[in-house]
Amino acid sequence: MIYFDNNATTKIDERVLEEMLPYLREDYANPSSMYDFAKKPALAIKEARGKMKDFLGANNEKEIFFTSCGSESANMAIKGTLNCNKGKKHIITTKVEHPCVLNLYKSLEKEGYEADYISVDSEGQLDIDELKSKIRKDTALVSVMYANNETGVINPVEEIADIVKTKSPETIFFVDAVQAGGKIPINVKDTQIDMLGVSGHKFHAPKGVGALYIRPSVRLTPLINGGHQERGLRAGTENVPYIAGIGKAAELALNSLNYEMTEVKRLRDKLEDGILKNVFNSRLNSSLKNRVPNTSNIGFEYVEGELILLHLSDIGVCASSGSACTSGSLEPSHVLRAMGIPFTALHGSIRFSLSRFTTEKEVDYVIEKLPGIMEKLTSISPYQDELMKLKQRRG
Ligand code: PLP
Repeated sequence: MIYFDNNATTKIDERVLEEMLPYLREDYANPSSMYDFAKKPALAIKEARGKMKDFLGANNEKEIFFTSCGSESANMAIKGTLNCNKGKKHIITTKVEHPCVLNLYKSLEKEGYEADYISVDSEGQLDIDELKSKIRKDTALVSVMYANNETGVINPVEEIADIVKTKSPETIFFVDAVQAGGKIPINVKDTQIDMLGVSGHKFHAPKGVGALYIRPSVRLTPLINGGHQERGLRAGTENVPYIAGIGKAAELALNSLNYEMTEVKRLRDKLEDGILKNVFNSRLNSSLKNRVPNTSNIGFEYVEGELILLHLSDIGVCASSGSACTSGSLEPSHVLRAMGIPFTALHGSIRFSLSRFTTEKEVDYVIEKLPGIMEKLTSISPYQDELMKLKQRRG
């Protein structure tokens, strides 16, 4: 099995698992209990919070709150701050956010909020001027993802934070950094970002644990009411093994950032160049420059993405298509549609996402096998004339 779907989820690092096991076996005490037996789990949470503080470049571990996932972090940040700011009814986000933000915005619109969705260009780069023009004094919140999950395109969130705060100092700025964590450096303390969320399973921790950075000046209500855990902002007995796991994963990811930005990037570039050179109907679906180092989104013109995925799966390769099956029809990706990717490539777009566990051999295997698969699939495509013209054009 060759795994090129690390933006969907990642393998748990063995060292993360080792860190978690004692809290699943012998050290199972509730960390809030008074006896000595509870000290080790309580210390594990404290240490994980410190590691997460370093990972996100926060000032203080008190700014870190553990959650169950990236979606919870986004919901907690957005709903929580809007609840404390009932007078303002205008919110802004982008057209290419993850559904955990987009669908939340849609539901907020039904509750009476007015939402603006900012455009991206054909390379997936955000229209900063449009964003600037939409910020108003009654804008309660701006939410912009750090890196896009489908294309890997990075948004200049530090610059956006400055723009938001200059135009409207009271507006809250949330960053969904789920696809940036572990791939590029994050340093919230040097920015005007108010809140930023990450998810453990995207950087080799298990599924079911995330974190939210909250600047101390930000006021928000909890999503889950109950006990005093997470300083009263997220009730429920702490998930000690998973929190210990995400802490360890954050430490490891911070230590391997350099590797990610050089070696993982080299392998991604090799894979991408190999495909683009050897498959005549392929095209890159994103900016060449501003991308996280592990992601490549390639459109294969006049071929169905699901068919490509099935053929890749037959040779043991896991990747993902930009489209999701919605009620029986093949709905093309909202991200690629927002970028204006031509219809001919929209349905045949494949995301390859690597990790620090990806090997050169795996990359070489895909480069070797994909041209054969594509030859077969183009030969059965109903668009033979168009493919012929494309082949002539691209030589
Ligand atoms: N935000 C982005 C950009 C994502 O890619 C994802 C997951 O793919 C999420 C949020 C949601 O994360 P989780 O699955 O941990 O809820």
